[in-house]
Amino acid sequence: MSTSLMANYGRFDLTFARGEGSYLYTAEGERYLDFGCGIGVTSLGHAHPHVVAALEAQSTQLWHVSNLYHIPPQARLAERLAAASFADRVLFCNSGAEAMECALKLARIYQTSRGAAERYRAITFRNAFHGRTLATIAAGGQAKHLKGFEPAVDAFDQVELGDLDATRAAIGDETAAIVVEPVQGEGGVYPASDEFLQGLRALCDEAGLVLIFDEVQCGVGRTGKLFAHEWAGVAPDIMGLAKALGNGFPIGACLAREEVAAAMVPGSHGTTFGGNPLACAVGNAVLDVVLAEGFLDKVQETSARLTERLAAIAGNKSVYAGVRGRGLMLGLECVVPNMDLLGALRAEKVLALPADGNVLRMLPPLNIGEAEIDEACEALERACAQVAT
Ligand SMILES: *Cc1c(COP(=O)(O)O)cnc(C)c1O
Repeated sequence: MSTSLMANYGRFDLTFARGEGSYLYTAEGERYLDFGCGIGVTSLGHAHPHVVAALEAQSTQLWHVSNLYHIPPQARLAERLAAASFADRVLFCNSGAEAMECALKLARIYQTSRGAAERYRAITFRNAFHGRTLATIAAGGQAKHLKGFEPAVDAFDQVELGDLDATRAAIGDETAAIVVEPVQGEGGVYPASDEFLQGLRALCDEAGLVLIFDEVQCGVGRTGKLFAHEWAGVAPDIMGLAKALGNGFPIGACLAREEVAAAMVPGSHGTTFGGNPLACAVGNAVLDVVLAEGFLDKVQETSARLTERLAAIAGNKSVYAGVRGRGLMLGLECVVPNMDLLGALRAEKVLALPADGNVLRMLPPLNIGEAEIDEACEALERACAQVAT
């Protein structure tokens, strides 16, 4: 514990020295199965050889040049993300919050560019999480994140996730955009229904609004599709990515379709580190793995197997009532306090995450095998027996 660090994090009394695949090791050599992946970041596991090789190769060539110059690994990553998505253009940054800030700024400058400068507000949803900058805590609208940081940026109107009528009613003359996580992560692992996402697309088309998907947590393969919104068969106008895109190397991205992206002109927006050669070399290596033939199909199979096991372990439902989520983004609806179950699981050397609404969240590596599923589920059974007594 360091008293030189600001006290903004509550930390578990646990320190890791090394990671390999799905496992983390303490300095004493104790091994933990990592079903949190940071928070959905190291989706390919720790020290993935292909990703390590890409970082090492780039590190001997070029670490940084300003965005005043062309950066080939950045251009290549943008081309590949655009080719694999609804988007035509990409702006790179360094985190999820920045990706969402960029998305919000882009929505405004786009509305301005089409003569609707009065449209600056965005509709967001209860339990949302979009980051910790001043704008994104206001977008999330959660009292616990806003407390002490008021006044909140006054640009957001919040409604219940899934309530299309309330969303329609919240649209006003000043509304520029609707922002939604296709699967809410921090808020408790709540997938938006396909019908709801389709409904939002229709509302945006009718009212001339920009549809923004926050796929910072659910994107890059987490749900068994490259992007979670593919399940619903609808495309946004703008999308934020971060977490798993760098498998642990900081990188964020804001993707948009051409008409919207065209509002950004030289000088509109920028960041010193965004699109850094090291980050983009790693991002390209991550895409090599995630876009490889059969990878996402395997994620879906793994998801089905794990979800079935987790549902069975719920048993008489005295510890958790069931499991929800999509792909390998799963939430156990706890009956006991979620932190008790998380602690008991940690004592069994398996790491998971909490989420709001008394949920235990599992974001395992996308490439786990049957042995790791067995190990996690056996540990969970013992942890459940522990907290049930
Ligand atoms: C983590 C997260 C963010 C914020 O990302 P940071 O990298 O922590 O800034 C934004 N949106 C969602 C959905 C997230 O899960």
